[in-house]
Amino acid sequence: MIFAANFKCNLTRAETRAYIDTLGQKRFADDAHIFLFPPATALDRYDTPFTIGAQNAYPAHHGAFTGEIGLQQLSEFEIETVLIGHSERREILGESQAFIAEKYRFFQEAGYTILYCIGEPLAVREEGDSAVADYLMAQFEGIDTDYERLIVAYEPIWAIGTGRAATSEEIAATHAMLRKEIDAPLLYGGSVKPDNAAEILSIAHVDGVLVGSASLNVESFTKIIISIDRIK
Ligand code: PEP
Repeated sequence: MIFAANFKCNLTRAETRAYIDTLGQKRFADDAHIFLFPPATALDRYDTPFTIGAQNAYPAHHGAFTGEIGLQQLSEFEIETVLIGHSERREILGESQAFIAEKYRFFQEAGYTILYCIGEPLAVREEGDSAVADYLMAQFEGIDTDYERLIVAYEPIWAIGTGRAATSEEIAATHAMLRKEIDAPLLYGGSVKPDNAAEILSIAHVDGVLVGSASLNVESFTKIIISIDRIK
């Protein structure tokens, strides 16, 4: 099972270090694979068993891309994992599918583990399963889904940061649809919390969770990770 924490634009460098230290003192099941995505200012070469990834990066080694970080900056900290396609970057930062696919190709060529996010808006969900399937599959345009270091996160936009997770039925149907098309591990994201994590993790074809708000507090993320023990 994969447990990924997306800190977004939260936590300082000092807070991230304290978080990693505290989480490192916990004991987790051997099959709990933990990924942490701190903000770029908190990337570092941490002495930790957890995988540290970048929330975003520009598809270039280095260059004239003001405000961005590239492969050169990530390599300094031995970062080899990147999150691509998050709905906040698609919707707020205006990243197009073509640009997302360019980033994907670049980091695939660099051998990165890619946590690739897809998700539909509420209006599409309200149209039903077949509209959701069409919308999600379009988000794989230009994406090599056979890449062996791909992890997919299904994150319905209307469930992100709203406190309203998708229902078990919605997650089950969507993950079953995705599993027919894609071999990669499939995570669910969107208002995962300590009190719904076990139920979500026990749904067929859910290989883990991507957590935003409830990962910001280390004790809350810990409770989510140890919910793996309740589904065995
Ligand atoms: C996310 O944005 O990746 C996310 C899952 O957020 P939250 O858990 O806050 O819904």
